[in-house]
Amino acid sequence: MIELKDVSVTYPGGVNALTDVNLKINDGEFAFIVGCSGAGKSTMIKLLLNEVAATSGEVHVNGFNLKKLKRSKVPKLRRTIGVVFQDFRLIPTMTVYDNIAFVLRVIDAPLKYIRSRVPYVISLVGLSHKAKKYPDELSGGEQQRVALARALVNDPDLIIADEPTGNIDPALSFEIVELFKGINACGTTVLMVTHEHNLVKHFGGRIININGGTIAFDEIVGGSNEVKQF
Ligand code: ADP
Repeated sequence: MIELKDVSVTYPGGVNALTDVNLKINDGEFAFIVGCSGAGKSTMIKLLLNEVAATSGEVHVNGFNLKKLKRSKVPKLRRTIGVVFQDFRLIPTMTVYDNIAFVLRVIDAPLKYIRSRVPYVISLVGLSHKAKKYPDELSGGEQQRVALARALVNDPDLIIADEPTGNIDPALSFEIVELFKGINACGTTVLMVTHEHNLVKHFGGRIININGGTIAFDEIVGGSNEVKQF
């Protein structure tokens, strides 16, 4: 669960990036975060990842109170969150399999576990046939699927996706969001930052709009893909 109570973030130099934000996202939810450039979306994400600290207020993420979080416990928090970036951030010299296995190798996961878990998450994103390929042999959409598999490999409670469709052919953006929806349907909370109105309109759901560092609206809207019942 994510909970922000009266959270403000002021950067050195005096920019108020977030002002008195109150927000609760329950386990298992899917929410879009939308807003213009400079609205405070990245600051919100950095706050949840403990990359920036709240100037005032309280931030709770997956049972951690970030104000009280010791530096030594930060990796424990991070392991409960999978992050997907706009630019994929795959390692070009590693295969799909190794890009994902790497996450488990650095935390000294048992080899037996790696050998079962990695193929499983690759199959979840529909890329079993590309496990031995390198990132530059894949399309943008496929690379983002690998990035999602990598984010899932630690079995996180929460996936944060920062403009995951920003570098993808618009026609494939819907498929990528569908994939996140499928992951969410299995219980993982998903928070997706996007500025693509057509995606938000299509899928609907919880939309959190940030404007000038405050939440302008936070509503559940119907998507245009829903079958209307009469
Ligand atoms: P968004 O992700 O919605 O584009 P940001 O969270 O990046 O917005 O930025 C919110 C505000 O904080 C903007 O005015 C931006 O210029 C400012 N800002 C972001 N990062 C920093 C920083 N490291 N130092 C100072 N100001 C920053």
